[in-house]
Amino acid sequence: MEAAALYPLYETKMDLKSYQFQRLNQLLVFTLQNNEFYQEKLKGIRFPIRGYEDLTDLPFTFKQELAEDQENNKPVGKNYSYPLSSYVEFHQTSGTTGKPIRVMDTKESWEWWSKCWQEVYKSSGVTAEDTIFIAFSFGPFVGFWGGYQAGKDVGCLVIPGGGQSTKQRLYNIIENQATVLLCTPSYALHLAEVAEQNDIDIYNSSMKTIITAGEPGGSIPSVREKIEAGWGAKVFDHVGMTEMGAYGFSCSEQKGLHVNESEFIAEVINPETGHHVREGERGELVLTNLGRYGYPLIRYRTGDVVVHSMGKCGCGNHYRFLPGGIVGRQDEMVVIRGTNIFPQSIEAIVREFNGVNEFRIIYYQENGMDQVKVHYEGEQLIFEELKALLRERLGLRVDVELVEDNVLPRFELKSRRVEDRRYEMNKPLF
Ligand SMILES: [Zn+2]
Repeated sequence: MEAAALYPLYETKMDLKSYQFQRLNQLLVFTLQNNEFYQEKLKGIRFPIRGYEDLTDLPFTFKQELAEDQENNKPVGKNYSYPLSSYVEFHQTSGTTGKPIRVMDTKESWEWWSKCWQEVYKSSGVTAEDTIFIAFSFGPFVGFWGGYQAGKDVGCLVIPGGGQSTKQRLYNIIENQATVLLCTPSYALHLAEVAEQNDIDIYNSSMKTIITAGEPGGSIPSVREKIEAGWGAKVFDHVGMTEMGAYGFSCSEQKGLHVNESEFIAEVINPETGHHVREGERGELVLTNLGRYGYPLIRYRTGDVVVHSMGKCGCGNHYRFLPGGIVGRQDEMVVIRGTNIFPQSIEAIVREFNGVNEFRIIYYQENGMDQVKVHYEGEQLIFEELKALLRERLGLRVDVELVEDNVLPRFELKSRRVEDRRYEMNKPLF
């Protein structure tokens, strides 16, 4: 299908921008009438907001504010625009640190979620003919619930794969001839690993499309290629947040992510100054959702680090393109001996080696200096080469250690492959 047919509404960036800001103003008027949280935050703002220049007059919304609002206004805080009895969907953030933030949606806001996810399917070429298998244990975390709803709304058969072992999931995929798989990139790799150990032929199965979310792996070329080689299927990346919505997806070009600009306004800022960064620079992604009237977020600091680009993607989609996808998390960046390190830069290198089955990153201190160590499971043969490539690419000496098979944990949800032991001086390292 041609891209023009996929995105008929917006012929030019100009049209899209007018559409976005028209919707933003509608949302703001409604929110100021009905939402106590934003009534307080946006007191005295001037209308209308005509473009990105005016947008900077609005304050940012921080995750910490949402957390404090819930703490102070139990049980769910004040960021709701309808009576609580109108809400039908409950989710919470997966939260690696701190208390999870609870987020609810009305029927209409949940339909909006589905609409956003349908864009993900469209971009991945998924149609009503497909059978989707979701290899994920459903719980209150929003992950894949939107994909489940949208899959049914598109007309696909959707198989929930919760409450099953990895092997059971593989048999389920084969026996039901699933064509689309939804899971985290780590878990797609794990499924492939277990398939190989058990002689389950997934490469020649009916699987043709894998949509990954929850971690950035789908946009890391070495990770994506490893999944594709194992499955004989094409990988698409998707990114969303409980608080914000399902905002981004990759395309046939596989070079990064598009932000669904019909439903979100995206800005890229310097996290220190709050100003927009220049083209080509890295910064924090700030998003505003335009259609989630039940739970609006204005200029939300996502903590996702992206590259600001005004270039167009070769697929023909006009939506804003983030080259390389999410390149890191603001809160995951560490400074080791003066060098900024994101765990996923390390992952990108480690995954270039077929001889690595699983790995773990450890930050620690030795003689008062910060150090990085990578544990990996796999082949001894690649040890020197891996160590050399890490040093070359990161510009930093990295310790590497081969560990025994199956001692490192595997992950179904968000991977926890990083251990920061720099401030636990008295704890033994291993
Ligand atoms: Zn594209």
